[in-house]
Amino acid sequence: MASADSRYEYWRQKSEAHRDFADATPNITHNTLANWERNGRLRGIITQNIDGLHQDAGSQDVLELHGTAREIACMDCDWREPADSWVAKFVADDRVPDCPKCNGRLKHATVSFGQTLPTEVLRTAFKWATESDLFLTLGSSLVVHPTASLPQIARERGAKLVIVNRDPTPLDSIANLIVNAPLGELFAAMNTVSNDPREQS
Ligand SMILES: [Zn+2]
Repeated sequence: MASADSRYEYWRQKSEAHRDFADATPNITHNTLANWERNGRLRGIITQNIDGLHQDAGSQDVLELHGTAREIACMDCDWREPADSWVAKFVADDRVPDCPKCNGRLKHATVSFGQTLPTEVLRTAFKWATESDLFLTLGSSLVVHPTASLPQIARERGAKLVIVNRDPTPLDSIANLIVNAPLGELFAAMNTVSNDPREQS
């Protein structure tokens, strides 16, 4: 944050990545989870993703533990806005913009290395974990804490735990069901066999 050159390079790389985000669309996993929430079957989603695709799919209750690349935030005050116009401004001006409110330092509203996770979001995530009766972990290696503690806490409080991941995880020994498969394949298979009319979108 102290180096102007590093901040310029950060904005340059993020602006390139932003184009890929803008083109990305929700997949069958995002869409199925959004359906489950609409049907009252899913309390919400706790995610480490920063791409905003769960919201694009229609999910309402999404806890973004690592923030979002869809917004720009000030490091020095509470200002934040959608990223699109600010990324465009950076590209047009070729200089890092300052906070319009306090002249402070702007960056994408993601949690970068060295930043702490958002306290309120994390608190709600732990609340959901303690209240859940079924906790699904989807496509997480479950090695980074405190995120990896969430399924553990859910399990301790009596929830069933389902782990879906391509590879084994450190929490496999406490899971009620383990599915080692790519998410897309699993959700495609589930949608094929589902004959519940409420699951049709
Ligand atoms: Zn500011």
